[in-house]
Amino acid sequence: MKVVIVGGVAGGATTAARLRRLDEKAQIIMIDKGNHISFANCGLPYYVGDVIKDKKDLLLQTPKSFYDRFNIDVRVREEVIKIDKEKKKILIKKLETKEEYEETYDKLVLSTRSRTN
Ligand SMILES: Cc1cc2nc3c(=O)[nH]c(=O)nc-3n(C[C@H](O)[C@H](O)[C@H](O)COP(=O)(O)OP(=O)(O)OC[C@H]3O[C@@H](n4cnc5c(N)ncnc54)[C@H](O)[C@@H]3O)c2cc1C
Repeated sequence: MKVVIVGGVAGGATTAARLRRLDEKAQIIMIDKGNHISFANCGLPYYVGDVIKDKKDLLLQTPKSFYDRFNIDVRVREEVIKIDKEKKKILIKKLETKEEYEETYDKLVLSTRSRTN
């Protein structure tokens, strides 16, 4: 089972950790276009308001700690720009080099935040 998770913060990181607990053998890849994963979104106002002084206190996991603890392949500064549902593959753009590459999946999780219209 190969699971690709797009978005590595609230829903994405939670899903990845839960999946690993359910299946030790699954290949799990988590992709985020931002610099960080698994940070405390809800603590941001405290950082802006200078109650939390060091932004590192908002970071719960890093790509390395997530790999070490859960064996999850975390890719940051990479954006998923296309989904081919029929072929079960996605197109990913590395934001630093602009290089694009494909990744296949058995299951795809989208946790990229959403908004109502
Ligand atoms: C200040 C603040 C306070 C909040 N307080 C509360 C609260 O008290 N209670 C509560 O229930 N909720 C609260 N929320 C809302 C909660 O944080 C969000 O509902 C939750 O983070 C959404 O989870 P998510 O995984 O969908 O998105 P996020 O946690 O926002 O993560 C989405 C990630 O997806 C990445 N991404 C998006 N598109 C792509 C792409 N194409 N390719 C790769 N990566 C992509 C983004 O870079 C981002 O890191 C608060 C939010 C904020 C900002």
